[in-house]
Amino acid sequence: MKPPKKVKVLWIDYDLKFSKRLRDDETGEMIWGYHDLLRKHICIDDSVCPELQRINVMHEILHGLGHMCGWELSERMIESLSHQWWTVLKNNPQLKEWFMHGNKADSK
Ligand SMILES: [Zn+2]
Repeated sequence: MKPPKKVKVLWIDYDLKFSKRLRDDETGEMIWGYHDLLRKHICIDDSVCPELQRINVMHEILHGLGHMCGWELSERMIESLSHQWWTVLKNNPQLKEWFMHGNKADSK
């Protein structure tokens, strides 16, 4: 399944882009992804495995939420939360389905 081209984080529509060999502009270090609030895009390194790409998208969404909500989450907290949420969603497909389609099922 192809990833979406857009990710809506609260009221901001980010373009979701993939690229290889991403580097931090300031440090030059290799990175797995970044989000750019001003340019409204999230960019993920697509040379890592597909599951890690998804976790990294979640990671960048958390950065976006943190910026917009004024959270002071450390990089370590975001790293941990993205892996934890990924694991919960992956291990609970019925819960995920209920979250996404609960209103339709409830009306039957
Ligand atoms: Zn980060």
